[in-house]
Amino acid sequence: MILKSLKESRRLLLVTHVRPDGDAIGSILALGRGLSLMGKTVRLYNESPIPAIFRFLPGIEQIVSDPGPLSDYDTAVALDCSDLSRVGGLADAVSRIPTLINIDHHLTNTGFGAHQMIDPAASSTGELVYQILMDLGIAIDSAMAYAIYTAIFTDTGSFLFQNTNPKAFYICGRMVELGVNSYTVAQKLFATYSLGRLKLLNMVLDTIQISRNGKLSVMYLTQEMLRETETSVDDINGLVNYAKHIEDVQVAVLIQESQRLPGGGDRSHYHVSLRSNGPVDVAAIAESYGGGGHSGAAAYTTYTSLAEIKKNVFRLSDIF
Ligand code: 5GP
Ligand code: MN
Repeated sequence: MILKSLKESRRLLLVTHVRPDGDAIGSILALGRGLSLMGKTVRLYNESPIPAIFRFLPGIEQIVSDPGPLSDYDTAVALDCSDLSRVGGLADAVSRIPTLINIDHHLTNTGFGAHQMIDPAASSTGELVYQILMDLGIAIDSAMAYAIYTAIFTDTGSFLFQNTNPKAFYICGRMVELGVNSYTVAQKLFATYSLGRLKLLNMVLDTIQISRNGKLSVMYLTQEMLRETETSVDDINGLVNYAKHIEDVQVAVLIQESQRLPGGGDRSHYHVSLRSNGPVDVAAIAESYGGGGHSGAAAYTTYTSLAEIKKNVFRLSDIF
């Protein structure tokens, strides 16, 4: 049904989640380019700024923060969004576009939209986009290959995470055959840090606390730390994983003070990232706080205080 609907569409708005990661960005770029090559009018939308590390991707400038009048579109495609509100402020307006397609791999996907392709066994949304491009008979060029490779490479944590599956290796291998320089991608994404990022890492690591049973680690990051190290949200990417590498730790938590929202008064709000390396399903925990994600990586946003979040999170360690 997705294929039929994509073939029949003429003017599409492709959207993905706020604070986009490599999977969100790679998926929207690859599908956007494929559909454009089919002769369709396509616009790529994201509410948030695009992190600097992804600026090497061909076509990245086509992801815009102004979609124009939404009445222009006959079809919307949401990529890597477990629920439509992940799109941000425009979610309601997007839901009124006549046909809504939902392409995602989150366990917690709510099944929104008229047509869906939801596969929690997929490593990434990029893997699903590859499948769609194949099924549509689109020849993948180097730009699409870079986008798909980046989606899979980042969402599998460079093939380190449990969602790494045979298709992830197979597709990335094909993308390299189609022109991706895997060394370039690795350098751009994971090997080039500013001095500020290392200083930030130092500060965040200094906040680590471990639960009494040793199975949970908690770190936090404040806006003040970003100011002091002259870093930005771009530099936060991946920090949560450090605390997961500690011996015996099963769940790592990074509590991140978010930037105040315009008009949001002086209340801080926090983005709480959860990572699990084993039996604990952190998607279920995030969901209970109104967020979501995968069993191994999930997150939620909250307006409670840092002390309160820490108290609640440490209480979790009693159950595993
Ligand atoms: P991160 O900790 O990197 O921000 O997010 C981890 C995972 O949880 C990602 O797959 C991301 O898409 C998902 N996620 C992050 N924040 C939210 C949220 O507020 N709601 C939902 N449903 N998923 C989220
Ligand atoms: Mn993803």
